[in-house]
Amino acid sequence: MSSSPVFVTRPVLPSLTDIMPFLERIWTSRVLSNNGPLLQQFEADLARYLGVEFLSIVCNASLGLVLALRHYGITGEVITSPFSFVATSHAIRWAGAEPVFADIDPHTLNLDPAAVEASITPRTQAIMAVHCYGIPCDTEGLAAVARRHGLRLIYDAAHAFGVRKNGHPLVAEGDLSVLSFHATKVFNSFEGGAIVSPDRETKLALDRLANYGIVDEVTVSEIGLNTKMSELHAAVGLALLPRIDEIIDARDHLANRYWQALSQVPGLHCLCPPGQPGQNSYMFPIRVGPEYPMSRDALHARLKEDGIFARRYFHPLISDLPMYRDLPSAAPENLPNARPAGEQILCLPLYPDLPEADQDRVIGIVSQPC
Ligand SMILES: *Cc1c(COP(=O)(O)O)cnc(C)c1O
Repeated sequence: MSSSPVFVTRPVLPSLTDIMPFLERIWTSRVLSNNGPLLQQFEADLARYLGVEFLSIVCNASLGLVLALRHYGITGEVITSPFSFVATSHAIRWAGAEPVFADIDPHTLNLDPAAVEASITPRTQAIMAVHCYGIPCDTEGLAAVARRHGLRLIYDAAHAFGVRKNGHPLVAEGDLSVLSFHATKVFNSFEGGAIVSPDRETKLALDRLANYGIVDEVTVSEIGLNTKMSELHAAVGLALLPRIDEIIDARDHLANRYWQALSQVPGLHCLCPPGQPGQNSYMFPIRVGPEYPMSRDALHARLKEDGIFARRYFHPLISDLPMYRDLPSAAPENLPNARPAGEQILCLPLYPDLPEADQDRVIGIVSQPC
């Protein structure tokens, strides 16, 4: 095929015109990092957009998750999802804790509260759940399990930028929620992330942990890390934030086109129906079932022949990676829903400026692969 390749995602950039005034402020102030004026403004504007009161911007979500666990001193078992990006479990290990995998719900692809409860031992200290593809977890179910057993509930909200559940910001759920502003996410600052806190005291404690544990010129209260965001990254975020509604609308439009074209294809199940209030259309995952004319992997390869690079998120499962697969909780019998999800789900190309003609090439093959 001579047509240009289509990748699963393509980052959104602010215009150079929009970012220039922020860069001029940096060059004038010579403040490059350490809670500078742009970072403070980015924090305030983001909090307002997300509808939360307290958040700490950090340099990426992976370290945000590590700080969240360190804040609560969690070094025991943390129950988490095998159906996620590898950073979720890696963060648990970097915090010095132990991931324990529990199964997911086959419809939401998120941790199943009953499976979580069945995985609790005397060593369990926390649950780290993921709102996979921006689909909300059963937040009430998970909160009930956490409450019954005295566990912390931390959300990896890397996919959940701007998502609302019953009109409320999803990132306000749990003890802490961690967002990612990596280049490939719904909203980006090239690299970046944020931790949403329930109160000012927690926010300030996380800010301190993000800055080596420094309290003042002569006082260091704990073994903190450096997870600060630079003014340059804050400038990117500030220049892009005013366009976020337009970005999500463009995603919704394309997700809707996929839905119209693919939801009736025999053997395919589209996991994210459009038109749900508060969704962010981060991904368009399809489940390739046994009645479809070919397997998920064959469809993935077929698309590749035409230069279309769909992605098998999440395959392999985290629990199948070499550093985790020997854990007792990684056993296939423990993960009866996660296993087929890892083998059947394919995420189709979706980004705000994906040309409809390219999307139609994807649709043409997926709707009639043979
Ligand atoms: C991207 C991602 C992360 C890591 O975010 P970074 O900001 O790149 O560190 C963590 N969890 C999930 C589910 C992700 O998709």
